[in-house]
Amino acid sequence: MSTIFQKIIDKEIPADIVYEDERALAFRDIQPQAPTHVLIIPRKPIVKVADMGKEDRELLGHLLWVAAEVARQEELEDYRLVTNNGEGAGQSVFHLHVHLLGGRELGWPPG
Ligand code: AMP
Repeated sequence: MSTIFQKIIDKEIPADIVYEDERALAFRDIQPQAPTHVLIIPRKPIVKVADMGKEDRELLGHLLWVAAEVARQEELEDYRLVTNNGEGAGQSVFHLHVHLLGGRELGWPPG
């Protein structure tokens, strides 16, 4: 089933894209929870971390590198990277994504 993020990858719906390459895409969250709230996604339609295959290990590393690259672009020193794995953990879009949150104090533990 096609998710909203697949539609963004396919350029069927617009997004505020801040980084793009042949494997990944980063765009601003439509409901930002911090001054910087960017989602980093693979072009490959993987549902969540738990569904990644062994062959996807390098891809996950790449997503983290993209997150760090976007954080540099945004001039963030301190930030949080989160991926919600499954509905019970808060996942609402079933295409793997890493949240990059920064620009404010971030409490711990998260809710
Ligand atoms: P999660 O709840 O971890 O699955 O995160 C999904 C995120 O996608 C939420 O923070 C939503 O605000 C965000 N989101 C949903 N639709 C869009 C969209 N069209 N463009 C940008 N972000 C979106």
